[in-house]
Amino acid sequence: MLLDQATPEQLREWESQLSQEYDAIVGKKLNLDVTRGKPSADQLDLSDALDGILDGNYVAANGTDTRNYGGIDGIPEAKRLGSDLMSVPADNILVGGNSSLTLMHQTMLTAYYFGLSGADSAWKNIDAPKVICPVPGYDRHFTVCEQLGIEMVTVPMTATGPDMDAVETLVKSDSRIRGMWCVPKYSNPTGVVYTDETVERIAKLGLIAHADFRVFWDNAYAVHDLVKSPATLASVFDLCNKHGTADSVVQFASTSKITHAGAGVAFVAASTTNLNGLKAFLGACTIGPDKVNQLRHARFLPNRDALMGHMAKHAALLQPRFDAVLSALSSAFDGTDLGNWETPEGGYFVSFDTRPGCAKETVRLAAEAGVKLTPAGATFPYGKDPEDRNIRIAPSVPSVDEVVGAMEVFVTCVKLASVRQALTR
Ligand code: PMP
Repeated sequence: MLLDQATPEQLREWESQLSQEYDAIVGKKLNLDVTRGKPSADQLDLSDALDGILDGNYVAANGTDTRNYGGIDGIPEAKRLGSDLMSVPADNILVGGNSSLTLMHQTMLTAYYFGLSGADSAWKNIDAPKVICPVPGYDRHFTVCEQLGIEMVTVPMTATGPDMDAVETLVKSDSRIRGMWCVPKYSNPTGVVYTDETVERIAKLGLIAHADFRVFWDNAYAVHDLVKSPATLASVFDLCNKHGTADSVVQFASTSKITHAGAGVAFVAASTTNLNGLKAFLGACTIGPDKVNQLRHARFLPNRDALMGHMAKHAALLQPRFDAVLSALSSAFDGTDLGNWETPEGGYFVSFDTRPGCAKETVRLAAEAGVKLTPAGATFPYGKDPEDRNIRIAPSVPSVDEVVGAMEVFVTCVKLASVRQALTR
């Protein structure tokens, strides 16, 4: 279907056919949900051996009784797990509680309010500091900025990562830029892995940006591959060291989508300066994180091979769901002018761009047909997609049959919204 070449009669005919298909779907009274990217119960089951794994032995390798207070930056074996996950030396890792989002919030709060390298470095010292947000992006990153009152400046995401020409121009031309969000591997939502060139250009931003500029490198999907030989992500840590910009990037990750999403362990990897800045803040919030859970995780995932073997089991459960989404999109939209999407090799999302102005209507039609999609606009700051195009599909929780059913509804709704819009032109 090429809408741009269709005559008004063809459009009317398509509209009537699609309306009939849509009404038949509504009649099925479906109740399907492809909204949030969380593990299915089957995936959570993979880590149930965490329960009871300590078997009464609560003592960490360095003799720490993990049941007691203390250890603001984590026990050594949990730092080793963070190092396996993030490919950064254990000395540069801080281990926190169950959520990397909390650590990101706390790090941005520290940068804004207290300064990561002393009070003079606090972003609040200047009027209206700004953070660069590649879009579409992760809604919860935008909520952190929104809550802290930090202005967001968007740059487009491309198939190679953020549009680096736009990022460099902003960093050079706007002296109030203080930060940037990045999801470098299987980005939320587009599934893109940043290319080596993009990673190197990000590592070099510290050479042209303000000294208090920090990249928030949220590597939430560091080991979440779906294919056997996935694209690899260059080490921003090594590249920053090479260019003398170690303070300009703070990295985050967690086991949320490795073990139990609500009861995992989260990590920060950063320079000593940044870690000290963050620890000064954390020390006022807590006497220490949950080290018992850190020890459970370290014993459950004792080395990189164990971690990767465990992730292969997740991939086996996720892959058929992604295949169902991607094959539905291909068979409905290959060779049409109805939408674009990337083919992710990992992560939790497929991101679909409709024709401009059709995303909200697609989501509305799908909801009326019993398929819940993430609200259109959620992947943009303040929930506003200026072109009303982007829809995030998260297929991990429903069964494969349910994903197939949800995609039948989705493609019909995209087509119907597009044809109805074309009829108004
Ligand atoms: N970052 C990204 C990019 C995510 O997609 C998610 C979960 N949807 C998170 C962070 C949340 O991580 P955590 O559970 O460690 O807070």
